[in-house]
Amino acid sequence: MITISYLHIGIDDTDSPDGMCTTYLACHIINKLKENGIHIIGYPRLIRLNPFARFKTRGNGGVSFKIKNDDKADLAKEIVLDEVSALSMFDCDNTNPGVIFFDGEITQEMRDYAFKAIYSFITIEEAEEFGESVGCEIHKFKKGRGIIGSIAAISLPLDDFTYELLAYRIPENYGTKRQIDYDSVVEMDNKTFPDTFENIDYSEDYIAIEPKTPCPVLYGIRSNNVEVLDDARKIVKVSEPIEDYCIFLTNQHTDMHIQKADNIAQMKQFGCYEITATVKDIPHVIDGGHMFFTVFDESDEIECGAYEPTKNFRKTVSYLREGDIIKLYGGIGEQNTFNIEKFQVIKLNDVEYQNPICECGKRMTSAGKNKGFKCKKCGNKIKSSEKVPFTINRSLKNNRFYETPVSARRHLSKPICRMNF
Ligand code: ATP
Repeated sequence: MITISYLHIGIDDTDSPDGMCTTYLACHIINKLKENGIHIIGYPRLIRLNPFARFKTRGNGGVSFKIKNDDKADLAKEIVLDEVSALSMFDCDNTNPGVIFFDGEITQEMRDYAFKAIYSFITIEEAEEFGESVGCEIHKFKKGRGIIGSIAAISLPLDDFTYELLAYRIPENYGTKRQIDYDSVVEMDNKTFPDTFENIDYSEDYIAIEPKTPCPVLYGIRSNNVEVLDDARKIVKVSEPIEDYCIFLTNQHTDMHIQKADNIAQMKQFGCYEITATVKDIPHVIDGGHMFFTVFDESDEIECGAYEPTKNFRKTVSYLREGDIIKLYGGIGEQNTFNIEKFQVIKLNDVEYQNPICECGKRMTSAGKNKGFKCKKCGNKIKSSEKVPFTINRSLKNNRFYETPVSARRHLSKPICRMNF
């Protein structure tokens, strides 16, 4: 039996807030490879890593793809290195590209490294030492920070995955207003959701497929399967030229950043978790429109935040009341607050207590501490101080998920429409 050997190629940290995008560079490289008779195997991968990484430009994404490791592998390496050298945004201090070549099977320790890059922080030195130990060919440009993400991008297993079709603008149009027809995006969403998702944020009346930055991306359509992307692309109308398209296989919208915590005490700053806890107080808003409340369990308590950019989600959060048991998903950020991405109601506290009703029909009042109740109308008294429980209507529903609007969602967050995947 002939076993095919692959050359894995990882690229990261080529862009800056002013331009470029590592996915665009990858698409450009893939075209160059094709012109030289080198074809990538499968789809290129867009891998999102730790959302709290300090030097990220936007969504902390690295890119990888693989080719056959044959007599054209050296030419492929040359093309990749030349294009990264030619197109990376080297003027930006925080752009420090890293390219990784790895021939062979991805090992368990490489998979573990990739999860570490999602859950915690890795230094350039650690990445370099690790890469060398597993046999990666490492290319650092400037500080070469990109090797951290490049090694992770080739190594991460994708048990759950989505796709993103990225359409790229012609360079003359970079930085100008994107010419996307809103109605056609609505039509695409109507015809292809939930196979595609996060196309439009209806609550904010905003086209979510359109980036806000001056990068080469014209739009990105996210989907659960690759077949729908072609239809979706054909429905979206734009009135500017499209230079190229590329479909990426990605860990976006999989909740891969979320770790299951057994209790609150286990949760650490800059980690993202799923935790079940009880609401301690009624959510309150502070200056700037940020909303906070506290949850607790047997181990500890933690302040939760729904920040101003989460817009209407704060209204939903405001419906929580003490005693509600909820499953929360989110990350502990700079302020040590648990930033909520979504929550599921496990058990609503829908019970309130009232003074009993007297035989005469009038609600009784307290007769003093531990002295029971008395009726002001007929003078009747009862000794028990126990109030009477009654069920209240709640705006939230048991078992239901509630999430932040598309406009405030992390790339890695799994939207509710994918929760059964
Ligand atoms: P874009 O979304 O446009 O691709 P970006 O947000 O991915 O940009 P990069 O330019 O790729 O930003 O910069 C992120 C940097 O952080 C890269 O150098 C990457 O190697 C590094 N990095 C990724 N994960 C970690 C981690 N867990 N710890 C430390 N550094 C990391």
